[in-house]
Amino acid sequence: MNLSQVTYIWIDGTSPTQTLRSKVKIVANNKKELTAADLPQWSFDGSSTYQATGHDSDLILQPVCLVRDPILDENNYLALCEVLNPDGTPHESNKRAHLVKVMEQGGKAQDPWIGFEQEYTLFNGTQPLGWPDRGYPAPQGPFYCGVGADEVFGRELVEQHAQACLDAGIMLYGLNAEVMPGQWEFQIGYRGVDSESADPVTVSDHLWLARWLLYRLGEEFGISAKLHPKPVKGDWNGAGKHTNFSTRAMRDPKTGMQAIDAAIKALELRHKEHIAVYGHELELRLTGKHETAHMNQFIAGVGNRGASVRIPRPVANQGYGYLEDRRPGANANPYEVAAMLVETICNNQPAKKEVA
Ligand code: ADP
Ligand code: MN
Ligand code: MN
Ligand code: MN
Repeated sequence: MNLSQVTYIWIDGTSPTQTLRSKVKIVANNKKELTAADLPQWSFDGSSTYQATGHDSDLILQPVCLVRDPILDENNYLALCEVLNPDGTPHESNKRAHLVKVMEQGGKAQDPWIGFEQEYTLFNGTQPLGWPDRGYPAPQGPFYCGVGADEVFGRELVEQHAQACLDAGIMLYGLNAEVMPGQWEFQIGYRGVDSESADPVTVSDHLWLARWLLYRLGEEFGISAKLHPKPVKGDWNGAGKHTNFSTRAMRDPKTGMQAIDAAIKALELRHKEHIAVYGHELELRLTGKHETAHMNQFIAGVGNRGASVRIPRPVANQGYGYLEDRRPGANANPYEVAAMLVETICNNQPAKKEVA
């Protein structure tokens, strides 16, 4: 018999940006490899996570995505959970349940794949990592994809995080140092491995698990990762969560460019609805500067990093592939971003009428 430590991880009710919580359950089992379906539900005190009141505080954790725990040993697991009300319905903070529904209601039929580029900023106390105690580092320029002790800060944590994602079985695609010193990016999603599903639910689950691992490993270094979309005001790049998206038709050489153009038209019509769920204080980042389009504008273009939606140059050249939505902020909830994209592109939602 194995006694496994299973870390139940869930998304809380913190407003305006939800955060992660976790607690550990010891699970006895006779199996070599557990699955999410093997795990019992568990309850927690929702009054301590902004999800319930004190006199009716018990909420339910339902494990939905299980990976190996790369930090504890091989019999231990990380279990991402949905939060349910006592009657078993999804709690209002549970955005995953809506994405699952949107996928059932037509999304799946178009076989969407997704990939997130998660930017984040490492902090040592109140300053970004590598910044002087007072004032600013040298202006941006040498830091993006840089190398060297004077240009790159926090690589040891970043490398441990990448290995932890791979050991867990999370669909890590790659990583890089970003334009602002102390800022980094990792990508999660489609990476051309046939045995994996890059569907929006799985990839969004993996992004939340990768975020948890980043915070958890940061504890070892006394470094905290922050997802604020504009961690430093002024002439410094913000932090985004570019979201790459394709449907079967977009990936088909016969229909690719036509399907990508149709998707961009649909996205333009629902620009405001998308912006509304792309993260708190997005206006601080989408200024029209620092590789963004202004929040009140919708611009699409090939290879254009000042656009809202970019068609990567290689995609335009070959005539099929995917598009990149550059609008989401680093702090956006991947379930909400994915659900909007599936609704707009796959379910062909009409633009909501403006209320007079
Ligand atoms: P950028 O050039 O914008 O920095 P990255 O190399 O950081 O792009 O990330 C590329 C992203 O595109 C990854 O998240 C990857 O999963 C995603 N991606 C690649 N191909 C597809 C596809 N066909 N459909 C959806 N996403 C894709
Ligand atoms: Mn990138
Ligand atoms: Mn980036
Ligand atoms: Mn990008």
